[in-house]
Amino acid sequence: MTLRRIGAPLVLERHPLPEPGAAEVLIRVHVCGICRTDLHVIDGELPDQPLPIVPGHEIVGEVAARGAGARWAVGTRVGVPWLGHACGTCEDCRAGRENLCERARFTGYQIDGGFAQYVIADARFCFRLPEGIDDRHAAPLLCAGLIGYRTLKMAGDARRLGIYGFGAAAHIVAQVARAQGREVYAFTRRGDLAAQRFALELGAVWAGDSEQPPPAPLDAALIFAPVGALVPLALRAVRKAGVVVCGGIHMSDIPAFPYALLWGERVLRSVANLTRRDAEEFLDLAPRIPVRTQVEAWPLEAANEALQRLREGRLTGAAILTMED
Ligand SMILES: [Zn+2]
Ligand SMILES: [Zn+2]
Repeated sequence: MTLRRIGAPLVLERHPLPEPGAAEVLIRVHVCGICRTDLHVIDGELPDQPLPIVPGHEIVGEVAARGAGARWAVGTRVGVPWLGHACGTCEDCRAGRENLCERARFTGYQIDGGFAQYVIADARFCFRLPEGIDDRHAAPLLCAGLIGYRTLKMAGDARRLGIYGFGAAAHIVAQVARAQGREVYAFTRRGDLAAQRFALELGAVWAGDSEQPPPAPLDAALIFAPVGALVPLALRAVRKAGVVVCGGIHMSDIPAFPYALLWGERVLRSVANLTRRDAEEFLDLAPRIPVRTQVEAWPLEAANEALQRLREGRLTGAAILTMED
């Protein structure tokens, strides 16, 4: 399913089977998750979007062929995340911040991704997936889970944790946060009772509308919805020295707000991409909690319909595309 033109529906196409380069693997895709970032790609909201491109960066599949120098034996089940390549030599890479590498390349944005039956990936940026989590339920771990986990880490040891936007990332992060003994406060679009109920089922101690103040000041807030207006609301909801972390790759403009909201050593920061270390940590942690993802499955050729559902907020949990049949 290829993006040929910004804003246009994806097109079902037949491409020749690609050959892996020396450090690459050819993966037969079983399942690919759909992430909000796929909408940002399709809408041209990320800089310098190359076209055509096959979106999809929550890839679960098995190695079908490999280049001469590539790790992973044929038949290994692997996952491919958003970070598709980093240079390994720049200042950021050497400092353990490959997520900020200027030469990084991203799956489904600059490298053809997993809305396809086969995909080529740099073997060094693929991961073995935990046993005991099937393909469908593993797919959302690869972005919603990984970047959600990195976002949660930026909240430090916050006990009272607010989550704004209760979609795919939040439904995973809430389970991790709860297992770590934190209290989760879920904020949704006004009147989205289905999402609020879902949050409470996942163990949130409170759920309400984003405009509502929480019953007690928060130690930290994570924002997963791409809505800049949530930033001042979240700053208002956190206590002194509280942290507000923006977990998305794109956000609408943040409205001006009084300095008093930031005063008191409150911190506002973003999270960009992921490192392989985040992936290793989270994929080790997820089965031990255990994180259970809730998925809605669509066949590959229905990608446009599934994307539309995500756009309208008419999904509970995470959408995935399946290539089985
Ligand atoms: Zn993503
Ligand atoms: Zn680098």
